[in-house]
Amino acid sequence: MAVAQGVTAFHAPGRVNLIGEHTDYNGGFVLPAALSLGCTISVSPAQAGKLVLKSKQMPGTVEVDIASILDAQPRKHWSDYVIGVAREIASLGFVIEPATLEIDATVPTGSGLSSSAALEVATAFALLNGRPLEKLEIAKLCQRAERNFVGMPCGIMDQYASVFGAAQHAILLDCRELTHQLVPIPDGVELVAVNTMVKHELGSSAYRQRVAECAEALSHFPGKPTLRDVTLGELERTAASIPEIPLARARHIVLECWRVLQFHEAAQAGDLERMGRLFVESHRSLQHDYEVSCEELDYLVDTALTIPGCYGARMTGGGFGGCTVNLIKSSELENFEKAIAARYKERFNIDATIIRCKPSAGAGPVE
Ligand code: ADP
Ligand code: MG
Repeated sequence: MAVAQGVTAFHAPGRVNLIGEHTDYNGGFVLPAALSLGCTISVSPAQAGKLVLKSKQMPGTVEVDIASILDAQPRKHWSDYVIGVAREIASLGFVIEPATLEIDATVPTGSGLSSSAALEVATAFALLNGRPLEKLEIAKLCQRAERNFVGMPCGIMDQYASVFGAAQHAILLDCRELTHQLVPIPDGVELVAVNTMVKHELGSSAYRQRVAECAEALSHFPGKPTLRDVTLGELERTAASIPEIPLARARHIVLECWRVLQFHEAAQAGDLERMGRLFVESHRSLQHDYEVSCEELDYLVDTALTIPGCYGARMTGGGFGGCTVNLIKSSELENFEKAIAARYKERFNIDATIIRCKPSAGAGPVE
């Protein structure tokens, strides 16, 4: 993208999570890839003492007084993501310079591809405007912004993937250690996201409820800092004393962490069939044990599995709508896209958008 003189710009990608859903806030493993879609913010001068925020995707202009940024209150408005990040940066001792931030994103919002983290991370880069800060600190401050100011008790996956993404690779992230390794995507296969175009209201309240249910499950394992630290054997031995719902949630987390590591092995071996089977097992677990799927997502997964060239399919992101991610043989890509869109239209009378996911680099300045 070309940038006008006197203006600098920063880009941060969205992400598609390949496997490891809802495990991040349990200290577990996740395996996302940064997308070529993301959020770009152009930074230009503004009146002294002001931050001026505009988004091509949202109406209105928001003006913020920098002097009182630490006293700002969330308004349940898109600008909360930006102001939340500005507050965290100011809390680290950086001076927030007056600026106009013009936001323009290509990642669809509210679809499970993390437009929110793309916005947060692009904002952090824009406000730092070249001042150095460790990448991990950037991911963490963006997560704090979403947790503390937006009010969503999220894990670190989205912000971490947006910062540390790498071209042609997914990343295996250990959310307890906050370290990652790159995972090459085998040849001959494409990652395709199919957007249900729905977002059920239940989503954010159910997310909080799952966080609470996981905490309840964890209370049955004294001395374990997170559910990720619970082994399958320990879960089996304790199962009889855990109520049904927290037990099902814990079963999802413990097995999902195991599946991420299995998926990593399968990817290294180029075993597409096994990668696909793990996708499906992950989806079934999210559908039945974690209960964060919905009719539209289940239909897309069940239908994808009947289309030639589909190794596996699963919901991706928090659930209750948004996207599925599909592992598709390259030579069958176009057929698959046509078939899944037609079947979805026939069933729900909705045009699903199809997004070819090209694993891409993490956030940085726009050349
Ligand atoms: P997801 O991260 O899966 O896309 P979220 O519900 O976590 O969904 O975040 C979506 C919210 O992020 C939007 O409702 C909006 O408040 C904010 N947002 C994302 N992208 C933009 C944008 N380009 N401009 C303004 N706000 C945005
Ligand atoms: Mg989000």
